[in-house]
Amino acid sequence: MAEHYDRPAEKFPHVPERLSGLIDLAYNLWWSWHPEARVLYKQINQQAWKKSVHNPVKMLQDIPAEFFDGLLSNTEYLRRYDIIMNRFNQYMTNRNGWFSEHYPKRRSLTIAYFSAEYGLHHSLPFYAGGLGFLAGDHLKECSDLGVPLVAVGFMYSEGYLHQHIRPDGWQDNITEVLDRDAAPIVRVLNASGDQMVIRVPFIEPPIYVTVWRVNVGKIPLYLLDTDIPANIPENRTISHRLYTEQTEQRLRQEIVLGIGGRKVLSDLGIEFSALHLNEGHPAFAQLERIRERVEKGMTFKDALVQVKGTSVFTSHTPVPAGNDIFPFDLMEKYFSSYYHQLGIDRDTFFQLGHHPCDARTGFNMTAFALRTTEYHNGVSKKHGMIARGMWRCMWPDLPEQEIPFDHITNGVHIPTWLNPRMEVLYSKYFDSTDPHWQNNHDNPDIWKMIDEIPDKEIWEVHTWLKQKLLNRIRERKRINWETHLKEPSNLVADGLMLNPSVLTIGFARRFSAYKRADLIFHDPARLRQILNNPWRPVQMIFAGKAHPADYEGKLILQRIYEFAQQPDFGGRIGFVEDYGEQMAQYLVHGVDVWMNNPIPPMEACGTSGMKASLNGVLNLSILDGWWIEGYNGSNGWAFGGETSPGSRDASDAAALYSLLENEVVPLYYSASIDGIPHGWVKKMKETIKSTSASFSARRMVKEYVNKYYPSLLTCAENECRFCSLE
Ligand SMILES: *Cc1c(COP(=O)(O)O)cnc(C)c1O
Repeated sequence: MAEHYDRPAEKFPHVPERLSGLIDLAYNLWWSWHPEARVLYKQINQQAWKKSVHNPVKMLQDIPAEFFDGLLSNTEYLRRYDIIMNRFNQYMTNRNGWFSEHYPKRRSLTIAYFSAEYGLHHSLPFYAGGLGFLAGDHLKECSDLGVPLVAVGFMYSEGYLHQHIRPDGWQDNITEVLDRDAAPIVRVLNASGDQMVIRVPFIEPPIYVTVWRVNVGKIPLYLLDTDIPANIPENRTISHRLYTEQTEQRLRQEIVLGIGGRKVLSDLGIEFSALHLNEGHPAFAQLERIRERVEKGMTFKDALVQVKGTSVFTSHTPVPAGNDIFPFDLMEKYFSSYYHQLGIDRDTFFQLGHHPCDARTGFNMTAFALRTTEYHNGVSKKHGMIARGMWRCMWPDLPEQEIPFDHITNGVHIPTWLNPRMEVLYSKYFDSTDPHWQNNHDNPDIWKMIDEIPDKEIWEVHTWLKQKLLNRIRERKRINWETHLKEPSNLVADGLMLNPSVLTIGFARRFSAYKRADLIFHDPARLRQILNNPWRPVQMIFAGKAHPADYEGKLILQRIYEFAQQPDFGGRIGFVEDYGEQMAQYLVHGVDVWMNNPIPPMEACGTSGMKASLNGVLNLSILDGWWIEGYNGSNGWAFGGETSPGSRDASDAAALYSLLENEVVPLYYSASIDGIPHGWVKKMKETIKSTSASFSARRMVKEYVNKYYPSLLTCAENECRFCSLE
């Protein structure tokens, strides 16, 4: 079936024909990682751009017609527009690229990528945290490298949650329903022009899904939506929000994502040769792939072998909450007609999700994913090792080092996370050795040129970004300051007193207990001294959401907020509400230090520190996840580690204070006569130089491709035994 979409052009009656490319561009997130394309919207009207929260679809809908009149006679604007549209069209039609150069025979083979969340842009609130951004960055990088990939996820109309902090520091979860028509998504239609609706096969009572498409450069991302009249009311809620705490709803979500997602691809006529499961949530896709083969006459056993041989599974967390286990009675409720279609009985079916060493009974999604995929990987060297230990009993005959659980360390999409001003500065000095350095940014040699940048120039950009961050925090408060009239301490706790000339530490991530956001408050008196030092003050910015059901996480958040309100902390702690993609951009560009102190080995990788480092923000982090690979002794600071003497919190906090007092703070404030802390800038350059290439999504995607994808794509070699089925 050919794909059809609704015609968004009808939603933009004001946009003149001459500029209609602005609409096409608005519906392709390509614009979001090309600052020069962003300027096209910003130039129309800066306030309107801000008001749309940088969402061109919304902006083009909201602005009055006369805004465009001036543009049509603005030759400079039109010239720019033509250049960018040309660049965009070239990007979209270019069939050459890294992938086709390296795998010329496999250029027509497609990988399907399934994930429960995607962090692409804040106008698409389909993410909770790191797993989502990793998936989003993966798609963008596949697009840049020309890797043929098609992605499947959810259109969560209520997203994760919007966070509001009450005066007493308690997190309120605000529900905001996404305006689907103002988001950069288009409806997928059937041949007769109606919205496409498919039924999730063999699940009773029936569940129907409809489909939206997001264009991530060249990569199509199909989003499933159950909130349609065809569904009974309780089924309409399935796609409302991420990570519901209700087990049954979660099971229903995973059924829709895996089985429904697979069905959508086949109904759209999209063929793929291999499947990549991003975490265990979408693993039921494997069942559906098996069922299709059985339906065509294959035995269950053969079908499993084929499906397995064309699949890779990436695990993202050692935390138990990341590994879903569904009670057998619930599985029975939804799958009783399904497993018959697989040609197996109930026991054989349940055995697929059996974890031999987990006392919790039920259908274990990770065990199931491991059984139905050939390749398995963790997301950092350390995490691979931990995962081999965690899952070794699935392979009782193998010694631990031979457990088939490899690792590919995560990376971040550089064009998304490198601040455009910094990029301009880097280019000024990198271009002389490689004018196309942006295309080769995973080559570590390019980054050596960072030493050519005069300290003054990089310091000026950095302080400008810091100023921008603080302006942004204050502006948010200014807009709704009336609501704080009776609570001045709230304005302080929200960061109104932050000062751009003070050493600034950032801490922003999900508020899970293991991330220990409050570790630095372990000894409040000592922290007070560090922050309030009259000659060398320090300030801190916190941000992050607790899962709605995570009572402990909310308590930690409240505790920090209360500290921030206390006058004896001198207004030097700010908590920024409703952490999301946009605030993350400001923070990882604009603070001086990025702090991270989870309990090892819980942080599988961590990616926000990579984003910070790329922009010259120094990591002050416990030795866990990526930092074990990233830290080289002179590109930031490390403490803690796997074992810690005595009480873990006490000793980690002590190490943190001591680093701050003896190294971080003195280095920051030892500026020369020219006002520049040259020692600090040296470290900034060191961190940019040593981490940017190795922790780029480009390095990561190439690794997935080189290690796994081609060996899964065996079909190109004319011995295609199973591709025709998909
Ligand atoms: C990068 C990112 C994350 C993931 O950060 P971690 O360090 O892995 O916790 C979470 N949220 C947002 C908004 C991000 O941009």
